[in-house]
Amino acid sequence: METTQIQLIARPHGEPMDTDFAVVKIGLPELEDGDVLLRVLYLSLDPYMRGRMSTAKSYAAPVELGTVMVGATVCEVIESRADSLAPGDVVLSYSGWQTHTVAKARHVRKLDPEAAPISTALGVLGMPGFTAYGGLLEIGRPQRHETVVVAAATGPVGSAVGQIARIKGARAVGIAGGPEKCRALLDEFGFDAAVDHRAPDFEDQLAAAVPDGIDVYFENVGGGVADAVTPLLNRFARIPVCGLVSAYNATEAPTGPDRLPAFMRRILTSSLTVRGFIQDEFVPTRYDDFLRDMSEWIRDGSVAYREDVVVGLENAPEAFRGMLAGRNFGKVLIRIGDR
Ligand code: NDP
Repeated sequence: METTQIQLIARPHGEPMDTDFAVVKIGLPELEDGDVLLRVLYLSLDPYMRGRMSTAKSYAAPVELGTVMVGATVCEVIESRADSLAPGDVVLSYSGWQTHTVAKARHVRKLDPEAAPISTALGVLGMPGFTAYGGLLEIGRPQRHETVVVAAATGPVGSAVGQIARIKGARAVGIAGGPEKCRALLDEFGFDAAVDHRAPDFEDQLAAAVPDGIDVYFENVGGGVADAVTPLLNRFARIPVCGLVSAYNATEAPTGPDRLPAFMRRILTSSLTVRGFIQDEFVPTRYDDFLRDMSEWIRDGSVAYREDVVVGLENAPEAFRGMLAGRNFGKVLIRIGDR
C-alpha cells in the first residue's frame, strides 16, 4: 500500500512557494496489532501551519525538511487490527498532508457521522471552534451588552467568536476583507455590525460601529486592524491574543515608529488585560462543555458555519497561500477522497 504525501522540502521565505513542497509517493508499513490503515477524506488547513514551516522559536517544533506536512484529518478506516475500530468507521486523525496512513487506533478519535457532518470535526466542532470557545469564554469573558470585536470574522475561529458572543448577550462586531464577507457576517452569522478592513475609511467605519467602545477584542490578525482597534478600547477591556495572521509571512519588522511604548501605556492607563493562549491549554477544563454547547448551538441554529472545500491534495499549497491572504471564505478543507 502506498501513500501520496506533500512534504516540506525548503523553509519558505515570506509566502510559501510551490518549490518549498514536493509530492512524494512512499510505501506504508505493514499493520501491527493495534494499528489501522486510514484513507484521508478531508485535510484541514490552518494558519498555525505557517509557523511549523519555520524554525523560529514557537510553542511546537518545526516540521523537519523532507517529511510530511502536519495537519488534522478526517479519515475512513479501510483495514483494522484493533478491536475498537472496523473498516468503514470514520475517525479524526493527525496524519498530515497525505492520502493514506497507518496509525495507532488509540491515537485517533472515532466520529459519529449521524451526529454531525464529518467535516465539522475539523472546523466548528473541532480545534478552530474550540479555540473560539476557550479563548472567548476563559479570557474575553463577554458580559451582557458589552461589545466584542473580532477580525478574520468569516473564518472558523472568528465566526464562532462572534456567534458565541451574541449567545452570551454581547454585541458582536466583525471585521472582514471585502463587501461579500461583510454581508455574510450580517446575513449568515448574525453579527450586529460588519466592517471591511480593506475599505479606505476602515478606521472611521470601525469607530462608527462601536459607539460604546470595545470591551473584548479577540485578536486574530494584528497589524493595521489592531492599530485601529487600540484607541477604541474601553477601560478594563480584555484582549485574548489568539493569532497574528497578518504577520505570518512577514520577512521583516513593520515599518514606522515603535508602537510598543504607546501600547504599554494604554494597557496601564486603561487597565487592559492582554493574554495570549494556545487552545489546548483549555482542553482539560472546557473541552467537554464545548462539545456539548457547540453541538446544541448548531442543532438549534444559533451557530452557523461555512466551509471552503478545495478538491485534490495537490491543491493544498495554493489553498494554504490563499487562506493567509484572505482568498478563502470559511473553514479551508482539502477533500482528498469520497466516502
Ligand atoms: P481564517 O480561515 O480566518 O483565515 C485567515 C484569515 O485572516 C483570512 O481569511 C483573512 O480574512 C484574514 N487576514 C489575513 N491577513 C489579514 C490582514 N492583514 N488583516 C486582516 N485580516 C487578515 O483562519 P482561522 O479562523 O483558522 O484562524 C484565525 C486566527 O486564529 C489565526 O490567527 C490563527 O493563527 C489563530 N488560531 C489560534 C489558535 C490558538 O490556539 N491560539 C488556534 C487556531 C487558530 P479576511 O479576508 O476577512 O481579511
